[in-house]
Formats: sequence, C-alpha cells, structure tokens
Amino acid sequence: MKYLKGTGFLEPYVNSAKTVVPLKKLVRLRAYKVPLTKTIQTDGWCNHLGNGKYEISLRLWGRNNRSTRHETIFWEEALHSLAHELAHLKEWDHTPEHYELQARIMLKFTRILREQEVPDIYINAIII
Ligand SMILES: [Zn+2]
Repeated sequence: MKYLKGTGFLEPYVNSAKTVVPLKKLVRLRAYKVPLTKTIQTDGWCNHLGNGKYEISLRLWGRNNRSTRHETIFWEEALHSLAHELAHLKEWDHTPEHYELQARIMLKFTRILREQEVPDIYINAIII
C-alpha cells in the first residue's frame, strides 16, 4: 500500500477500516487539487486497476497559500470521501450495503478524531 504525496496523514484512518473492508485490495492512495478556475466535479473516486486491485483518489487540497506555506485541506470532505471510496472495496455499487459500510468506517474515523482531540474537522490546514 502506497500513500502518494500528501496523503500520509490519512494512513491511520485507512488502517482503521481494516475490519470493515478488504484493505489488501487497495494498492495506493493519491490526492489531487482542483484549480480555482475549474468547477469541482467530484470529491474522489475509486479506480479498479485490474486483478482485484484498486486505487483511491481524493480531492484533498483547496487554496494554496504561498505566503504561509499552508495548504487548506477540506478535512471533513476528505474523511467522508475516504470512507465512501473505501466502502467500494467491498461493495462496488451504491447500495444500502455500501452506505452501511461507509457509516461503519466513519465510526472508526471518529475514534481517531477523539484520540487526537481534533476540536473541529470542518477545515484543517497542514504545513506543506
Ligand atoms: Zn461511489
């Protein structure tokens, strides 16, 4: 499992889903940025690479503030998207089963947020 540029902080969240979905199917997590001039199309997707292997892409970053060298991460959206895409590893279609998996994964995420004492996950910034 590879965490491509900027996605390493999501590792504990991904790992927390191991009892809910088959994580061994996931080969990498990547992040992308939507230019400010473009309309946002999607928050993420799960790509089938063949041989039962998958890649997850997440829209992770917003505005890049060069003066502070901080990237705005849409943390809440990222976690919801990650839970949604991880659920695809077990249930590909958008069935009630899929959303149940997504909800179970979000519950795992809340435990990590509690442990880390994150007060407000709506928007969070990290140093790049
Ligand atoms: Zn989906």
